[in-house]
Amino acid sequence: MINLDARRFELHANLSQVRDRIARACVAAGRPSSTVSLIAITKFFPASDAAILAEAGVTDLGESRDQEASAKVAEVAGLTDATVRWHFVGRLQTNKARSVAGYADLVHSVDRPALVDALAAAAGQAGRQLPVLVQLSLDADPDRGGSASEQLLRLADQVAGRAELRLAGVMAIAPLDADPDPGFAQLAGVAEQLRAAHPAATILSAGMSGDLESAIAHGATHVRIGTALLGRRAPHFG
Ligand SMILES: *Cc1c(COP(=O)(O)O)cnc(C)c1O
Repeated sequence: MINLDARRFELHANLSQVRDRIARACVAAGRPSSTVSLIAITKFFPASDAAILAEAGVTDLGESRDQEASAKVAEVAGLTDATVRWHFVGRLQTNKARSVAGYADLVHSVDRPALVDALAAAAGQAGRQLPVLVQLSLDADPDRGGSASEQLLRLADQVAGRAELRLAGVMAIAPLDADPDPGFAQLAGVAEQLRAAHPAATILSAGMSGDLESAIAHGATHVRIGTALLGRRAPHFG
């Protein structure tokens, strides 16, 4: 049996460390802490962990696979009254768009025209406007998603042209096993171009457990933190 009190203690300790890291990174970057939001990425961890974080004041939770996310969103709602916003941050197949549009408050991973069409149709069917980010690829690795910078602004225009979607900004994942600074510097440049064309697209989603300081130095408004909050995931999973 899981000892929930021990787990709660562990998660609270991890959360205060992560909040300290964010606060220090903001000081180093000369930015107010209020300009950076924490998204706890709860993939591969149980709904009970997500509920503990929500009750500890984490208002934003994220998932990367629809099947796991759709079940967990419902489960967490049954465990806590805390208000939670759900972020979908993983690679998204068009046939999952309808499901994701049913629970996501922000989709971070829009990286191709067919996905824009699928999400717009799904949001329309759900009778809502769905906020999305366009994902920039920093490593040209198709398994990690994202669009090349040459196509990204056109993709953003496509999103902005759909009444069922709201273009909220840009997201990226740093290359594996490399210094994150050059990639995040490139991302900051793209984010600036995006804001020039679409002034309301102010979100910059970047930074994970290993590189949040670099992301905040380069203007991240939302950091997506899994491991540093919840612990290590099984090695062969995302
Ligand atoms: C898993 C995941 C994260 C969290 O990564 P950690 O290194 O565990 O903090 C962030 N963003 C995306 C897109 C992810 O898939």
